Amino acid sequence: MTGFLDRKLSSLEAYTPGEQPKDMDRLIKLNTNEFPYPPSPRVVEAVNDAELSRLRLYSDPNCAALVEAIAEYCGVDPACVFPGNGSDEVLAFLFHGFCGNGAVFPDVSYGFYKVFAQMFGVRARQIPLREDFSVDVGDYADCGETVFIANPNAPTGLCLSREKIEELLRQAPGRLVVIDEAYVEFGGESAIGLIGRYPNLIVTRTFSKSHALAGARLGYALADPALIADLNTLRFSFNPYNVNRLSILLGAAAMRDAAYFAELREEVIRSRTFITGVLRGQGFTVPESRANFIFAGANPRLDGETYYRKLREHGILVRHFDTPRIRDFVRITIGTPQQMEILAETTKKILAEEA
Ligand code: PMP
Repeated sequence: MTGFLDRKLSSLEAYTPGEQPKDMDRLIKLNTNEFPYPPSPRVVEAVNDAELSRLRLYSDPNCAALVEAIAEYCGVDPACVFPGNGSDEVLAFLFHGFCGNGAVFPDVSYGFYKVFAQMFGVRARQIPLREDFSVDVGDYADCGETVFIANPNAPTGLCLSREKIEELLRQAPGRLVVIDEAYVEFGGESAIGLIGRYPNLIVTRTFSKSHALAGARLGYALADPALIADLNTLRFSFNPYNVNRLSILLGAAAMRDAAYFAELREEVIRSRTFITGVLRGQGFTVPESRANFIFAGANPRLDGETYYRKLREHGILVRHFDTPRIRDFVRITIGTPQQMEILAETTKKILAEEA
């Protein structure tokens, strides 16, 4: 660190993204929750020479084509949609501009929340999950800070019902509740239907997991138009062209091919059921995931770190978090059926080697 860096940022501990290996062909990559299938053919067709030549022009700062497609897909008014450069950027705006009273989130959740809080000087408090990793919304009843809940939660995959989200919203109508629905389209219960009724609700979502566009960097927020207007004030004070021309096209095309993704997401869910059963049968604890990953560990025959390392030696990359409460688990992205078969076989081999 140089002496040039602002001293208030000198202790910033940056987020560590999952590895993006170069030798992709030799590894089975199950570490960053990407979609295992390619984007829809309509997405591919959206990029042509004419669009490429238009790259000399700035993108539409209102992202109208994208916002309209998202609004239609989600069944909300376009005034309720905020476009972001990945949902991480949306979350950054929320931590930066909407946490005057601090932020509160579970102790085991998306690791970026803590980093954003530090980055923007937000006072943050973590509320322990229950022993079984579930969220007890009652724990938030007296919290005055902006609440961040990933639903389904990461890295556990567990989800809260819409009733429980509603309970959170009702606890304090003057307190903002952010529901991070990065993984909701793999079987969780969405809070979108609550938006018209609760002006203190913001839902964030991404194209990275359920729409096979992690590399396009696209995310969005859904909320009451007044909140979206505030978010846009921040966006236009930072980077009005936050979503690039090509991503606007790709995202709009993806939203308009709902059938393609719905079918493949069902395939992911089938693979999740398969591998959950296999790993439970092999002695792992696997909470009931509603996401495109599972959280597996607490196997008396194999600790989490060794499982991670051995899988890597066998060419399978998963995610291990060396943090309290979860270091005995690994997070495994759901891949194709073939990849899940290989994972099942490899795990069997590893357990035999460890015996
Ligand atoms: N929220 C959660 C819970 C996540 O796991 C992720 C992915 N790392 C994100 C948000 C951010 O996703 P993206 O920026 O790719 O939209």
